[in-house]
Amino acid sequence: MSGNKEKVSSVKCLSYDKSELLEKVRDAVKLAGGFPSKVKKGSSVLLKPNMLTARAPEYAVTTHPEFIRAVILLLKEIGAEVSVGDSPAGGHKWEKIWTDTGIKKICQEENVRLIPFENAKIIKFKKDQNIPILKELDDFDAMISLPKLKTHILTKVTGAIKNSYGLVIGHAKSHFHSVYPSPRKMSEFIGELYGHIKPDFVIMDAIVCMEGDGPNTGYPFNAGVIFAGRDGVAVDSCAIRVFGYDYKDIMHITVAAGKGYGIADWDSIEKLGDGFEELEKIRGKRSKADFLFKIPEKLFFVITMITKSRPSIDVAKCAKCGICIKACSQKAIFKKNEMYNVTASRCVLCMCCIEACSYQAISLRSSKVWEFLLKGRQLLNKLKK
Ligand code: SF4
Ligand code: SF4
Repeated sequence: MSGNKEKVSSVKCLSYDKSELLEKVRDAVKLAGGFPSKVKKGSSVLLKPNMLTARAPEYAVTTHPEFIRAVILLLKEIGAEVSVGDSPAGGHKWEKIWTDTGIKKICQEENVRLIPFENAKIIKFKKDQNIPILKELDDFDAMISLPKLKTHILTKVTGAIKNSYGLVIGHAKSHFHSVYPSPRKMSEFIGELYGHIKPDFVIMDAIVCMEGDGPNTGYPFNAGVIFAGRDGVAVDSCAIRVFGYDYKDIMHITVAAGKGYGIADWDSIEKLGDGFEELEKIRGKRSKADFLFKIPEKLFFVITMITKSRPSIDVAKCAKCGICIKACSQKAIFKKNEMYNVTASRCVLCMCCIEACSYQAISLRSSKVWEFLLKGRQLLNKLKK
């Protein structure tokens, strides 16, 4: 920290051009105060990008491979030993995830280890809960989080705090969605858990973000910035400005800050770099999660049933891979006559199937009532301006 303030950098970067990116990432890290002392010659460092599902980089679902490469090159300059890994949504084969995201190629080219997140160690959470997280985490001297800035249909946004949730192994991630079956409960859980799986440094890919119904079914959106800092809460608090949010609008950030896991207050952050000039000009479109958070907690299931807010499978896009069935902890997805469908009454709206589908075939359906409410809200916002 500088004085009482937490440093966050934001650097303008308009492309994934290899040489430009390396210099911009270098600037962002330097402005944010540099890597912590444990990242040094001979130390082993885990890079944790967002590898949500098997999608090509241009869809902006996963951290761009060239972004990962830039951080690898920077760490190689220091002499650190680098490994890369993440636990994706659903039951995709590692080979498919690594190949389709382009991450395998750059890891091979840079000769760094790509590790599957398969082995678990248990951490205790809230006295009686066992959370399986990556066992190999203990083998690394440091973990650097490389989140992709995206909207999120359940938690409004996903950045550094949510990227740490990828350290939870495989199907346990979907399981906890059923333990915390509402956007508020899940956000609270993610914010609290973050304190147990904090990265040592964060470098966020917000060059091409995702707007609309992220993290998988939104649209690429050019924000053209990189964020960096030692405090993931502070980095998130700055990055969400891309969508016009204040940290108080985002529950998992508020909870993490409230627990003392980082600084979220805008005035308590030292903001460094030319990217901050851009922030007020950029406005990515938000997701339907804004509406879900307005539903009173006790009425969440009933109201979402009445408004027919459930995942819908587009037959034309469906590749019949069956991944959504594996991703659903509620057994709400079934296959009949070679068609995949959702049993609405079983669905807890965890969005795991939407996250896991590599073909963007599942989206959150909205009823006419919902469309009417959303349009009304957009109109009100315009009138306020
Ligand atoms: S909707 Fe179709 S393509 Fe998508 S995960 Fe399910 S089976 Fe696969
Ligand atoms: S069908 Fe419902 S419960 Fe099952 S994964 Fe999808 S959103 Fe979650």
